[in-house]
Amino acid sequence: MNKVVKLALICEQSDKNNSPVDYKKVNEILWELQKQTREIKNKTIQYCWEYYNFSSDYYKKFNKYPKEKDILSYTLWGFINDKFKTGNDLYSGNCSATTKKVIKEFKNSKKELIRGSRSIINYKSNQPLNIHNKCIHLQFKNNNFYVSINLLNRRSFKKYNFANTAIKFKILVRDNSTKAILERCISNEYKISESQLIYNKKKKCWFLNLSYAFEIKSNNSLDPNKILGVDLGIHYPICASVYGSLDRFTIDGGEIDEFRRRVESRKISMLKQGKNCGDGRIGHGIKARNKPVYNIEDKIARFRDTANHKYSRALIEYAVKNNCGTIQMEDLTGITDNANRFLKNWSYYDLQTKIEYKAKEASINVVYINPENTSRRCSKCGYIDKENRKTQSSFICLKCGFKENADYNASQNISIKDIDKLIKEDVH
Ligand SMILES: [Zn+2]
Repeated sequence: MNKVVKLALICEQSDKNNSPVDYKKVNEILWELQKQTREIKNKTIQYCWEYYNFSSDYYKKFNKYPKEKDILSYTLWGFINDKFKTGNDLYSGNCSATTKKVIKEFKNSKKELIRGSRSIINYKSNQPLNIHNKCIHLQFKNNNFYVSINLLNRRSFKKYNFANTAIKFKILVRDNSTKAILERCISNEYKISESQLIYNKKKKCWFLNLSYAFEIKSNNSLDPNKILGVDLGIHYPICASVYGSLDRFTIDGGEIDEFRRRVESRKISMLKQGKNCGDGRIGHGIKARNKPVYNIEDKIARFRDTANHKYSRALIEYAVKNNCGTIQMEDLTGITDNANRFLKNWSYYDLQTKIEYKAKEASINVVYINPENTSRRCSKCGYIDKENRKTQSSFICLKCGFKENADYNASQNISIKDIDKLIKEDVH
């Protein structure tokens, strides 16, 4: 399985005398590489296009396609790489990773291109730099994570008088999961794969989108026909159950609300503080004055991120414990009928993504179902009525009198195979 972790970088480059190099200088080098990457990408597309035109003409004449090697004496990729051997500063491994990616993109878009349903690819400025996995070297030292990246070729490197042949950055590690990933990459438990170096204009910072891969532990013992229904509800963030079982997995969402309340009351007092003088933040415009408030928003987001990791991990443990080889969840994309629900879905989306990832790691299938009426249907007798749900938290069936927590009842419905089709048949 492949994953990506986004890492904010701080320049830590030193020169031959071991004195630090100004980050601005390094930025300029990186921007130059970015400019060259864009040129290489656009030229590569042109070469692909020319070769494609040649080979279709050839086909018209000889009724067969030419072999790349007969025409170019290399493969198309080799031929293009040869063109970029000189005339740029890119480290050769990264340069060939770049052209490889472009050729792949060209080949993928060829059909649409011929049909005329898309125009030829044109790479814009602010292109990510493709980094070959062998060019990335992680290190943990003095309680910090560092990454050294081979970015310049030998020829270009001499110009800058740097201490090493790679450019070194400190990695900003904000949470434990990132830390755990980096540790596993260093110990080789995770294998680093081709990654990207991206400049974020807003944050004025370079990010490494580090790709890594690991083997999925196959869990053949789980029963794919045993479904855990997962309801992301109002009362509980998660309520999950196996059909027919009274046992349930619930997460009390209180801690996020509690955190938000605590932090928000602080936020209000800080906003007030910002308005009145007597504070170091005054006199720097509205943005500077309210800056700590934005940090609080970040804080809430990070807290939710950590909490969602914890919830999803616990849910997967519950699924494994109950031998469930399948998890069923509501497909919450595209519901816009209720603004409130829509907004709520945005935070659920993060939770669902995390559940899906962790499920895959444990070899559990994830099935998304249409959520329509799953909260209005009685899981005991199948009767569907809006009035079944008298309040947010309680469900009472008007037909059979089944009385339960509303989220649990919904999770029971969601744990039924093809429940959305069943409901559709019942309603129409
Ligand atoms: Zn009923």
